[in-house]
Amino acid sequence: SSQARIVVLGGGAAGMTMAARLRDLLDGARITIVEPSEIHHYQPGWTLVAAGVYSVGEVQRRNERYIPRGVEWVRSAVAAIDPESQRVETTDGDRLDYDFLVVATGLHLDYEAIEGLRREDIGRPGLTSLYASAEAARDAYEQIHAFGEHGGVARFTIPSTPIKCAGAPIKATFIADDLLRTAGQRAGADFHYHTGSDTLFSVQRFDHMVRDLYAERGVSVNDGGALLAVDVDARQAQFQTRDGGRETVDYDYLHVTPPMRAHDFVREAGLAVEDGPLAAGGWLAVDDRTLQHTDYPNIFGAGDVVATAIGKTASTVRSHGAVMPDNLVDVIQDREPSRQFDGYTSCPLITEVGKAALVEFDYSLEEVPTFAFLDQGAPSWMWWRLKVHMIKPLYFNMLRGRYLR
Ligand code: FAD
Repeated sequence: SSQARIVVLGGGAAGMTMAARLRDLLDGARITIVEPSEIHHYQPGWTLVAAGVYSVGEVQRRNERYIPRGVEWVRSAVAAIDPESQRVETTDGDRLDYDFLVVATGLHLDYEAIEGLRREDIGRPGLTSLYASAEAARDAYEQIHAFGEHGGVARFTIPSTPIKCAGAPIKATFIADDLLRTAGQRAGADFHYHTGSDTLFSVQRFDHMVRDLYAERGVSVNDGGALLAVDVDARQAQFQTRDGGRETVDYDYLHVTPPMRAHDFVREAGLAVEDGPLAAGGWLAVDDRTLQHTDYPNIFGAGDVVATAIGKTASTVRSHGAVMPDNLVDVIQDREPSRQFDGYTSCPLITEVGKAALVEFDYSLEEVPTFAFLDQGAPSWMWWRLKVHMIKPLYFNMLRGRYLR
């Protein structure tokens, strides 16, 4: 059984971490990573690119530095999975047979689900999205300054789907607000945060905190709904209204957080959740504690792709890394999965350039602070410095299977 063939789909935060941990746990297993990109993107750093703190180069590294020794790297994308014949097909037409499969392909940013919008439009005058890429985050930084010179209406959107790092749209708003304040241009700008949800954050304390800070800084919260359409040339955006209608408004600066879902091949392979609130996104159907697929015991999931109620952060991957590979080894060795994921989700919630609150919670939606002797929920320069100086090295160590939670 140590000769088991394990194929890991995706070599991002989760794929790399799971492969590194599996390599350490198993002697002689044949592990393959399928990952098309030469570059690893440190996405949690993109908010800091948008704040002008990190350069684009500081959030990119070459994948070849992180592929674990002894692990084979197939530089291709998954096109299809056949869970019955235990085979993966790549976009290059190669076929890979597996005994055990780890799905870690992250999620798809569905800009095209917004009428009139294409991903390539991000970066056109007035239209930004720090979710699109490091370059787009840099562009958001440049465009907020261009916007500040003339002033006008700035709008920040939230989709109705689950999203990775649920705090990032809030951070994007606070960063833009702060950059304009520093430039002495905030008075000429009218800020709107568009959400269809009754809450701004799933943990009550932070919901209240963000609401209070928005009120203090003059960010109006439009309890409308999701962004439905954009006319990029006319700089108009159309939102869902509370009563199910549509409302069209002008903008000078629009920050889009796109709808998100799993890649199509998950659903096409019959591996997606089919019922409940997560069904529309085609997320990978796993047990939310063991991360084992609900129909195929030889398939596991990790990272953003899995259909858990919360937990689309890189910090979550630290916990997945301490659970999923051990459970896979249990299954290889004919035991029941022994480890349980608790829903751990975390992010430093930037409230201004130079300050952040350190948010950590689990399935209970209660705080689970690492530094319980300090008040992590109060915005402080300390958590900002943790974010800027410490989390990045921690992340890149995680990719090598270290500092798991
Ligand atoms: P990814 O890291 O996105 O990796 C997916 C990989 O799959 C990629 O390498 C991709 O190339 C590959 N792939 C895609 N399609 C295929 C295919 N067909 N075949 C093979 N491979 C494929 N997390 C935090 O913890 N804290 C934060 O402060 C934070 N801030 C964030 C801010 C922003 C703006 C963004 C975008 C994310 C942030 N995150 C944060 C979230 C974090 O980056 C993700 O949760 C994490 O990267 C998830 O890991 P993953 O491996 O599931 O997905």
